Amino acid sequence: MLKGKTALVTGSTSGIGLGIAKALAQQGADILLNGFGDAEAPKAEIAALGVRVEYHGADMSKPSDIEDMMKFGASKFGRIDVLVNNAGIQHVAMIEDFPVERWDAVIAINLSSAFHTTRLAIPAMREANWGRVINIASAHGLVASAQKSAYVAAKHGIVGLTKAVALETATTGVTCNAICPGWVLTPLVQKQIDDRSAREGISVAQAQKDLLGEKQPSLQFTTVEQLGGLAVFLCTPAADQVRGVAWQVDGGWTAQ
Ligand code: NAD
Repeated sequence: MLKGKTALVTGSTSGIGLGIAKALAQQGADILLNGFGDAEAPKAEIAALGVRVEYHGADMSKPSDIEDMMKFGASKFGRIDVLVNNAGIQHVAMIEDFPVERWDAVIAINLSSAFHTTRLAIPAMREANWGRVINIASAHGLVASAQKSAYVAAKHGIVGLTKAVALETATTGVTCNAICPGWVLTPLVQKQIDDRSAREGISVAQAQKDLLGEKQPSLQFTTVEQLGGLAVFLCTPAADQVRGVAWQVDGGWTAQ
């Protein structure tokens, strides 16, 4: 279905980004990976699916790195057809204790990076009259939790950015949508579970159960495969008129 198309997934060396990159590659898309850490293993996993794969290590907090990555993508693949803005970090603290440097980093990586990749990807998408921008927001793009002011602000911001870009491209074959996952068991969430277990002196299993019980009525984690499936759907013709949505995959979190 996506043969001949190229997808850039930011923050795709682990977790949700890697899961979505795999799902798009399974549909035949060539992949540009990005993110920190070991890139060789994810590259090999994607290559095994029979598509072309490249990696760029842009730090998504740095606009000049992002510009470099977009130029690299164009030189290797011609253009980016599917842009998945996924890179993200978390920091948990009360607002009066929130380190200014952490606020800036969360906003830069979780929100401003999507502004930069999108502004640089849209011209070629417009020219081709086809493109998909998929922003990985969060349940926290729709509702808040205490001690996550920067994350909640960035995720609400990316839902707004999604709607604005969807309107600007509404008469074209380019769509822009957001996916809002609930808890997904990735390194980002495992850290929160481990911190909770240490803070409350409870087992990791109990901390995991409490985390789900607090927010996610299904009491089950959303999986990266489920998110990959939705990203693939958003690339199909059936989704041509899905524009500017913030689509929850959260086990009922935001239905409460
Ligand atoms: P993760 O920590 O497993 O992966 C994050 C990815 O982003 C990694 O590849 C990491 O290297 C990359 N990254 C971090 N900082 C970067 C930077 N400065 N430059 C480039 N890459 C950078 O996390 P995840 O849980 O897979 O999160 C992915 C996205 O999904 C994030 O935007 C997160 O907010 C969102 N999300 C996660 C959950 C969840 O429960 N895990 C829920 C809702 C939304």
